[in-house]
Amino acid sequence: MTASPGSSPFRPALARLQPYVPGEQPQGGKFIKLNTNENPYPPPAEALTAITQAAAGGLQRYPEPTALAFRRRAAEVLGIPGPEWILAGNGSDEILTILVRAFVGEGQSLRLPYPSYILYRTLAEIQGARWQQVPFSQDWQLPASFADHSQEPRLVFLPNPNSPSGTMLAPEEVLQLAERLPCPLVVDEAYGDFASANCLSLVEQSDKILITRTLSKAYALAGLRFGFVVAQPQLIAELAKIKDSYNCDSLSIAAATAAIGSQQWLTENRDKILAGRQFLAEQLVELGFQVTPSEANFLWCTHPEKSHRTLYEELKQRQVLIRYMEFPEWGDGLRITVGTPAQVDALLSILKTVLS
Ligand SMILES: *Cc1c(COP(=O)(O)O)cnc(C)c1O
Repeated sequence: MTASPGSSPFRPALARLQPYVPGEQPQGGKFIKLNTNENPYPPPAEALTAITQAAAGGLQRYPEPTALAFRRRAAEVLGIPGPEWILAGNGSDEILTILVRAFVGEGQSLRLPYPSYILYRTLAEIQGARWQQVPFSQDWQLPASFADHSQEPRLVFLPNPNSPSGTMLAPEEVLQLAERLPCPLVVDEAYGDFASANCLSLVEQSDKILITRTLSKAYALAGLRFGFVVAQPQLIAELAKIKDSYNCDSLSIAAATAAIGSQQWLTENRDKILAGRQFLAEQLVELGFQVTPSEANFLWCTHPEKSHRTLYEELKQRQVLIRYMEFPEWGDGLRITVGTPAQVDALLSILKTVLS
C-alpha cells in the first residue's frame, strides 16, 4: 500500500490522529515510578485469591457477560440503588470510549477542561468528532463558559478530582453545572476514592450525570483493567448496547468483585497515601515549589526558577520517574504520584541535591 494520503484505505480521521501517549512504563530496571498515579502498594490479598480461584474454576467457559457479581457487590458497598445502575468495562478508559461512541456522532463535539486528561481528545478524534477545550485559570478555577450552550457540545467531561491538578469541584457545583449544560456530564472519578467528597449520589438526582470509576488507582489494580460507570438504569441500558459481548474477563471480574468488597483495605490504603501526600507537599514547599492543594494521589507542582523539564530529566537519570507536562498556551509543571515513604524520601533527596 502506498503512503500517499489520498489513497490511504484508512478513515481520514485516523490519518490526522495524534495518538494518545500514556506515561512511560519502563519494563525491568529499578525505576521508582511516580509518573502514572499507580498505587505504590500491592492490591488487597482477597483480589489475588479470587483470581486463583477463578482460574481453577475453568477458563474454558466465557465469563458472565455483564459482570453481574461485581455490579451486585459494588451496588451494595457503594450505596447504589442496584446493579442495573452500573456498567462494567475493561478499565475506565474503555468506559470513556463507550461514552463517546454513545453520545458524540461524527462531526459533533465534546467538551473538556484544559489542562486535563488528554485521552478525551483522542477519543473524539477517533470518533471523527470535534473537541472544545475550556482552559482553567492559572489557579485551577473553571470559567463559567464551561457551561455555555454555544458550539452545542453533545457530551462534557469533567475529571473530578482533575488530573494533573488534583483540584475538584464540590458535588453541589457539579450538580449546578449539570443542570446548566445542554448535554450529559461525565464526572470522571478515577481519583474519587482519595477525595474528601464525591458525586456518586448525584446520579439519583440527575439523569444528566454519569460517574466513571476505576479499580486502577485506589484499589491498586492498574494491571487488571477494570472500571465502571454509574448512571440511571435507562442510560446504562443504552450504553450496554455498545460494549463488546465479553468486555470483562473471568479473572478481572473475580478480582474486581473481591477488591470492591475490601472496603477496610481501601480505607487503610487511602490513609497511608493521604499521609504521604501531606508529607510530600510540605517537603516540596520547603524546597521552594508551589504545590497545588490536591484531593488525589498525586501533586501538581511548579518551581518559580528551575526548568521543570530539567528537573524531570535529572530525576530520570537517577532512576526516579515523575511526569513532566507541558500544556501549550497554558504552562508546564510536574505531576508527582504519592509513593511509599521510602520512594518519597528517595525523590526528595535527589531533588535536594539537584536544587542546591
Ligand atoms: C487513570 C485515569 C483513568 C483510566 O483509568 P483505567 O481504569 O486504568 O483505564 C481515567 N481517567 C483519569 C482522569 C485517569 O487519570
